[in-house]
Amino acid sequence: MFHVKFINKKSVIYSDLIPEVEHFFTTRETVIRSQEESMQEAIKENLEDICSYLSIDKMKFISPNQTHSDNVRIANNALDSYPNTDALILDNYDQAVYLNFADCTPLILYDKKHNVGAIAHAGWRGTAAQIGPKTFELMQEKYLSQPEDLLVVIGPTIAICCYSVGEDVFNKLNSTINDITPYYTTVYDKIYVDLKGINKQQFIDLGVKRNNIDVCPYCTSCNNDMFFSYRKEQGTTSRHSAILKLKKKTIE
Ligand SMILES: [Zn+2]
Repeated sequence: MFHVKFINKKSVIYSDLIPEVEHFFTTRETVIRSQEESMQEAIKENLEDICSYLSIDKMKFISPNQTHSDNVRIANNALDSYPNTDALILDNYDQAVYLNFADCTPLILYDKKHNVGAIAHAGWRGTAAQIGPKTFELMQEKYLSQPEDLLVVIGPTIAICCYSVGEDVFNKLNSTINDITPYYTTVYDKIYVDLKGINKQQFIDLGVKRNNIDVCPYCTSCNNDMFFSYRKEQGTTSRHSAILKLKKKTIE
């Protein structure tokens, strides 16, 4: 289930599914990514507040250059940039990672056994390319992650109420899961799809337990007062962000 908490009196939302990691989604109040001149002062302040909340140096708070690709990389202290990257895996305690969204689906993955996490950016392109399962596959290869240990948090996204797609996009999404029936509807001649649901189903098809996936109820277009929507705002440069930092495991 999702909840609101406050960083310097400004809201972020988070899921109670993964208390083992520090994670949250920023809102309009806590924006850290926008090209709009009028927002730069707020961004500077929010970045400071968030870094201080996470107890992390600004230089260690990193974000890849997202391009709607299906490229997955591992955050590494030796690298300072991640070009053409739409999923970043985090296995160290020194860094925190964030990715930016305005309608696309944020996926936070966490392997509770190996204490490894990831954030992926799944718009329709990333969802069609199965970036969620691909991120998990790299975790499986590098850390021996297993589906039964995986927890998945699906963040605020444009929902089925507001997300119509063309037939070509629908067909690409349809080919990624066994049965798309619960995740689309047609209204007159338009097809509406549930991107959050399709991403959830991709993880279920991998063997992740239904109860280990938490889906945010918010639609970024309907709840445009809280979040940014590329569609509703006709190409805004502002983004809300998904943020992840690992906690050191206490000895049991
Ligand atoms: Zn909506």
